[in-house]
Amino acid sequence: MSPAGLTQVSAQRASMAGRRQLAAAPELPCRSDPDLFFAEKPEDVQRAKALCRRCPLQSACLAGALQRGEPCGVWGGELLLRGVVIPGKRPRGRPRKTSLAA
Ligand code: SF4
Repeated sequence: MSPAGLTQVSAQRASMAGRRQLAAAPELPCRSDPDLFFAEKPEDVQRAKALCRRCPLQSACLAGALQRGEPCGVWGGELLLRGVVIPGKRPRGRPRKTSLAA
């Protein structure tokens, strides 16, 4: 595994520890399927965000994640990367050739 890959795994473990602390109530969606909240596929990220919208802790969760600078994952209905809210994940693979042309 590359150093970047190791960093990503470490960041994910740190986020998982934070999520375990937050998710003390057993009925929270992120408690029943924590991996979904660190998903790679954009459609899975959207599913996690949708689950957060029904969570009673949504605003507190997002505020806490921003304060801690969570390195990755869906928190409070938003996708965070290196402590910043980002609009979404790009699918894996090469960029389209059309974006390089012109
Ligand atoms: S807002 Fe989302 S990530 Fe935060 S506690 Fe609720 S379900 Fe979990």
